[in-house]
Amino acid sequence: MRYRIGVAGFSHETVSFWPGVTSLDDFELTSVYGEDIIEKGRDTNSCIGGFIEVCEKEEAEMVPIVVGSGGATATVADEVYDHYVPLIVEGFRKEKDHLDGILLSLHGAMATESRTDPETDAVRALRKAVGYDIPIMVTLDLHGNKDEALLKEATAVFGFHSSPHIDQAETGRRAARCMFKTLRGEVKPISAIKKPGIVVPSVFSATTISPAKDLITRLKEWMTKPGVIDVTVLFGFAWADVHNLGMSVIAVTDNEPALAKEIVNDLSELAWEHRGMLTGMGNKSLYSLEKGVKTAIEKAKTASKPIVILDHADRTNDTTFIIRELLKQRAENAAVPMIYDPPSAQKCVEAGRGAKIELEIGASTGWRDGGKFRVRAEVLWAGHAKYTGTGPMTINREVDLGLSAIIQVGGLWIQLVSRQHSLIDADPMERFGYDPLSFEIIVSKSKTHFRAVYEELGEEIIIVDAPGQCPADLSHFEYKHAPEGLYSTMRK
Ligand SMILES: [Zn+2]
Repeated sequence: MRYRIGVAGFSHETVSFWPGVTSLDDFELTSVYGEDIIEKGRDTNSCIGGFIEVCEKEEAEMVPIVVGSGGATATVADEVYDHYVPLIVEGFRKEKDHLDGILLSLHGAMATESRTDPETDAVRALRKAVGYDIPIMVTLDLHGNKDEALLKEATAVFGFHSSPHIDQAETGRRAARCMFKTLRGEVKPISAIKKPGIVVPSVFSATTISPAKDLITRLKEWMTKPGVIDVTVLFGFAWADVHNLGMSVIAVTDNEPALAKEIVNDLSELAWEHRGMLTGMGNKSLYSLEKGVKTAIEKAKTASKPIVILDHADRTNDTTFIIRELLKQRAENAAVPMIYDPPSAQKCVEAGRGAKIELEIGASTGWRDGGKFRVRAEVLWAGHAKYTGTGPMTINREVDLGLSAIIQVGGLWIQLVSRQHSLIDADPMERFGYDPLSFEIIVSKSKTHFRAVYEELGEEIIIVDAPGQCPADLSHFEYKHAPEGLYSTMRK
């Protein structure tokens, strides 16, 4: 039989303490509607890409509504929820008599002005419209904060297994495969969820290193056991001030509730054993700003590959703490790619290649950003930067950096861009004729995604806990909605 499957997405990773809101205009920059979802999503490493692949293999007809996403920024404006959720709900309500199932790509760490779990609210609204007979499979980012409320509404929930998120399409495929097995009556998904009560700053959720790696290894062992459909560990998102903040473990079994409970208990216990490393309280791999930059410069002198400085706390890709410190300590041949600064990029484009100009770079938010930094720069390249990604996460995706420039400031090679992206692969250098291996130091403001490329490309990764919007030390912030008693660096 030819199944008809609804496809939609709604996602954002919310930093609650960030001043202001993320508006509908911000979402609309990248949102995709209707059939475009299939055309643009096919063969991409996204959950939507995974949904499409399995649906096409099954020769199912897809009913795509909208995929709205707004990145990782300030609290989402209510107008955003009020735009996308009714579109999705009404879109599927109209189709419900001819719809067999719904695949939803959510994030799991969205908060709006008036909702601390807008994603669960959205699935609940959808259930009201289409009822509980239609399976709804939900995919989540590994950094979602979720609880049992979502499991009551969704048929099953599937999260990424990797940070770097190189398995987004595979997560979509896991959800879609479970959808078709469920529709054919081959399985009956029953889930359990447990929250171990730990708040993990994202820098400690890298699944290529322990202890996050050990949790994923154990998860994969459970995945091979009979009766197990799927297992997810959500590391949570530490800077979303929400009532369901923190890690969660989810197991989906084929109608075996006791087995699902056993799995989530086991993984929660393992997470609890590693709570020190996961929260940063027992983690010795963090450097202070001054010490981290000094160590990188020293190690770069004898390293055969670039030393990577990870400025993990920078969420805007424009804080100036590391740039200032590198210049202060007279770093040589250091690359600082993907600094978000549209006005400076435009000035460079107007001045042209070879020009020597004064700029005030970075620090667009005025919030924990280090302040604008005045530099005298030589313009090495300037123009509209646009390319098709070749990295593991950006493969086949159009990357549009807007007006951009590459400037030389002392020993620093700095790239200025007009769209928010962090350095996760080699494209931002290679696509402009620069070999990343030719630099002694490379600064990334990614959290874990850069590891897919830079663990191999770099000699060593130095994690610097510079001030910034999302530092590992959560005691800088005043949480209002987070529950009491969590194991974390939050203020008690
Ligand atoms: Zn994530």
